[in-house]
Amino acid sequence: MRYLSDYHLHSKYSFDGNQTIEQIIRKAISIELNEICITEHISFDPKDISYNFFDFKEYENEIQRLSDEYCGKINIKKGLEIGEYHLHKEDFDKYFKEHNLDFIIGSIHNLNGRGFRTNISENGVKYTYEAYFKEVLAFVQIGDFDVLGHLDIVQRYAFEVGNVYNLEDYKNYIYDILKTIISRGKGIEINTSGLSNNLLFPKLEILHMYKDLGGEILTVGSDAHSRNRVGEKVSYVYDMLNDIGFNYVFTYDHRQMNGITL
Ligand SMILES: [Zn+2]
Ligand SMILES: [Zn+2]
Repeated sequence: MRYLSDYHLHSKYSFDGNQTIEQIIRKAISIELNEICITEHISFDPKDISYNFFDFKEYENEIQRLSDEYCGKINIKKGLEIGEYHLHKEDFDKYFKEHNLDFIIGSIHNLNGRGFRTNISENGVKYTYEAYFKEVLAFVQIGDFDVLGHLDIVQRYAFEVGNVYNLEDYKNYIYDILKTIISRGKGIEINTSGLSNNLLFPKLEILHMYKDLGGEILTVGSDAHSRNRVGEKVSYVYDMLNDIGFNYVFTYDHRQMNGITL
C-alpha cells in the first residue's frame, strides 16, 4: 500500500482558505491519505492581503488538538507557505526561529508588489514570465525553505489569455533555479491545482530536467483551499513520478526530511 501525502493545504487560518482543519482531515481520511501538511499563508508585507492575518498560536493549538483526536488515523504536520522571502528575510528568519514548524514552502506570488494577472495585463505575458523566473532565482539563492512552491505558476494566469510558455524560451533561468535548489539540498513541489486545465506546476518537462540534473527531493500538494480538492490527483502524480524514474516523495518533521518510497 502506498503512503499518500498531500503537502500543500490551506485552511481558514489562511486569508483565502474556505475550510476548517478538521474538514481537511475528514476529507483526507475518507480518500485514504496517510499524511497531510497544512501550509498556511503568511506575509510580512503590510500591503499584502494576507498581512497580519495568520495566528500561529491558535493554529498550533488546533493542530495539537486534532492530532490527538485523529491519532492513528492520519499524520498531521504544521507548515507554512511563505511569499517573497528574499524581500523580508530578517522577519522570516526571526519567525522561523521562534515558531515550531515542520515544513516550509517558499513561493513567489507577486512581482513589483502586484499579482501576476495585473502584471500580465500591464506588461504582457513575456515580461511576466521572465520577471517571475528571475524573482524565483533570486529567492532560491538565499531563501530558507524546504521546497519551492508551484514553480511556473504564471502559467495559471497566462493560460487565461491563451499563452502557455515554451520551456526553451526560459530554459536558462529554469536550469539555474533547479541547479541552485539541488546544490542547496532543497526540493520542489508538484502542485496539482491546475490539472483541471491540463496544467501541472511545474510542467512535466521541468520534472524531467530536474531528474536529469540529479534532483530527488519532491513533495506533492493539491493547494486545496476548499474540501472538494483535498488530495486531488496526488495518486496520479505519484504514478507520473514513478514513470519518470523518481524513487521517493518526501515528508517532513521539524524540518527534517524523510524519503517515502513511491
Ligand atoms: Zn502559492
Ligand atoms: Zn498555496
